[in-house]
Amino acid sequence: MTVKQTMINISILGSTGSIGINTLRIVRTHPDKFRVLALAAKKSIDDLIAQAREFRPEVVCIYNPESAAKVQKELRSLKIRVVTGDEGLCEVSTLAGVQKVVFALVGAVGLAPIFAALKAKKDLAIANKEPLVIAGKLLVEEAKKTGVKILPIDSEHSGLWQCLEGQRVDMVKKLILTSSGGPFHKKKGSLTRVTPKQALNHPKWKMGAKITIDSATLMNKGLEVIEAANLFGFHPDKIEVLVHPEAVIHAMVEFVDGTHLANLAITDMRLPIQYALTYPARLMNHLPTLDLVALHRFHFERPDRKRFPCLDLGYEASQKGGSLPAVLNAANEVAVEAFLKEEISFLKIPSIIENVMKKHRLISNPGLQDLIQSDLWAREQAKEQL
Ligand code: MG
Repeated sequence: MTVKQTMINISILGSTGSIGINTLRIVRTHPDKFRVLALAAKKSIDDLIAQAREFRPEVVCIYNPESAAKVQKELRSLKIRVVTGDEGLCEVSTLAGVQKVVFALVGAVGLAPIFAALKAKKDLAIANKEPLVIAGKLLVEEAKKTGVKILPIDSEHSGLWQCLEGQRVDMVKKLILTSSGGPFHKKKGSLTRVTPKQALNHPKWKMGAKITIDSATLMNKGLEVIEAANLFGFHPDKIEVLVHPEAVIHAMVEFVDGTHLANLAITDMRLPIQYALTYPARLMNHLPTLDLVALHRFHFERPDRKRFPCLDLGYEASQKGGSLPAVLNAANEVAVEAFLKEEISFLKIPSIIENVMKKHRLISNPGLQDLIQSDLWAREQAKEQL
């Protein structure tokens, strides 16, 4: 018996980045399941135009207004509306008829459109962790009030979500996030002279530049600890990070009786994206599956916290909470950008973040405006230290 599924209407913020491209690959494979109503990109005009021609959305947003004229000219004959800027992003995330919005914008810029989508009662499929780090608590609270679903796409959080589904949270002893260890896990000697090119060479995942550098510093795990604490309502002391170089187990949940549930899958972002889009259903696909026999064995190690201090900075921000995660995130964005431009060394990234965190006067129960202010403050402070 075949069950006829209704179409799922989606919009994608960050459609030309790696998550956006993978989301569209899923849509391309299942044209009978998904329809793209809106796309948004920052500056990759040609890619955005090509995507619009193929998927025929109602609206596209090009974030940089200078590029709007060209996009408009190219898409005029298709009757696709072109919008720009922050307003445009909010329009894409609140468009009538859309059920699920995929958020895959790099950095803090995604905050306003996420809250706009929440208000408009769209389910939120969130790939970029920054909004969940900066304002995760607020988002989860608001989503509970309005009945909106938060569907995590970050692979570890998708794994935790799947392991926690149907379980009692008071029966959970701890959450375990795995890390591949990044490109420098096995590197001997000092990390002072490592270059952006070396740091961008991730052993397991193909991702955007910002998150790949975060993986090299282990800030990615620091951010993920905050993200998991906010999403699932656990104290960071109950969240553990383990290095697992095979990157097959993405997350585990340990229960009070000592039982562990684990999420295993190939390292392909299409899996967590697809699950967020089809939840609670699953969708057959043509992706390769795990060959457990070929894998032979799994390894686990504790992360080296001295060598990669960003992880502990993440824990500290999560423990102290309030406005500190927003500060950590903003300082990190500035420092990573400077490292990519070869303005600072690799080891300067954690020291800049730490200094900015030390200077910050914590706001304990921040509203959205406080968080945005803290973010701006931290950016200024971090820039002064470059
Ligand atoms: Mg992740």
